[in-house]
Amino acid sequence: MSVLVFVEHTEGQFKKSAYEVVSYAKAIAKHLHQPLTALAIGNITTEELQRLGRYGASKILHVNHHKLASFINQGYASVIAHTVREEGVEFMVLSNSFSGKDLAPRLAAKLQAGLASNVVALPEIDGDQLTVKTTAFSGKAFAYITLHSPVKVLAVNANTIESKEDPTTTNIVALEPAAIDMADFKAMIKELIQTTDKVALPEAEIVVSGGRGLKGPENWNIIEDLAEALGAAVACSKPVSDAGWRPHSEHVGQTGITISPKLYFAVGISGAIQHLAGVSSSKVIVVINKDPEAPFFKVADYGIVGDAFELVPKLTAAVKAYKN
Ligand code: FAD
Repeated sequence: MSVLVFVEHTEGQFKKSAYEVVSYAKAIAKHLHQPLTALAIGNITTEELQRLGRYGASKILHVNHHKLASFINQGYASVIAHTVREEGVEFMVLSNSFSGKDLAPRLAAKLQAGLASNVVALPEIDGDQLTVKTTAFSGKAFAYITLHSPVKVLAVNANTIESKEDPTTTNIVALEPAAIDMADFKAMIKELIQTTDKVALPEAEIVVSGGRGLKGPENWNIIEDLAEALGAAVACSKPVSDAGWRPHSEHVGQTGITISPKLYFAVGISGAIQHLAGVSSSKVIVVINKDPEAPFFKVADYGIVGDAFELVPKLTAAVKAYKN
């Protein structure tokens, strides 16, 4: 009953979600009294691999090949599937990130595996059967998925589990990829353009989001100031990005990014079902809206009825004062 976790990095630095999925997979491995193996693909330094090792993997397989320097869905899926077969893996864990969403169904198809994506809790394991809680219908419901297949693939949402160090003796093994099949490289990434150096929205623990209630892009400083004070990422509703007030990369919801931060501030957002679809698995939701009847209050953990232009600067000042 071997457990393998695939870890993602950006230009050689493991993402926050990489540490989270290692902790998630480690919990499964501990339950099964099995060692944990991690798989990293691309150009990563030994120091960075050793840092990852502090989180409980007893073996880190590192595949480095120039064709695999950037994420390429079919190429990565082939390497991971090959490793799953070679290592006799039964539980395969990865992050439910953009790349994870691309990889997980490919892996399930290649390995004839059962797949649970949008995973939001640790699984219950009973013999060779695993049951796990996931979100369903764009976050409107939870589903409990039971997997019976010999290989089980779990794509875990960001912020599902706190990563924690778990010192283990880690062997770092450089692995040659099995024969590279050119059929896996029909589409290649030519250039990666970083659009922001701020906290990445899908991974952020705190998100401050603005809607049409902000009246225009010139008022976004109140959202950005609060986000900066909290060390949060900035998001927005769809009409805001459609109007060009904010970039589409900040649009959350059914047709935008799905997020599950620990804390979500919705400022001047009505709470339409399509917006909630992308944010309802946030752990704590704070709503600021001047309309007490705004639908968002029905799902809020904390609701503040009032004018965002008065309240948000006061909140920012209070956060700054608390930090000092
Ligand atoms: P509004 O609905 O206009 O709400 C503005 C809110 O601001 C109001 O509640 C108002 O009371 C409040 N307000 C006004 N002034 C102030 C003030 N001074 N202080 C405090 N509060 C104030 N939407 C998404 O967000 N994401 C999606 O992915 C998405 N996908 C969609 C897909 C489809 C197929 C469709 C049909 C719609 C989709 N929508 C999506 C749009 C969605 O239905 C709503 O129209 C949208 O979420 C509303 O955005 P909003 O809350 O910013 O604006």
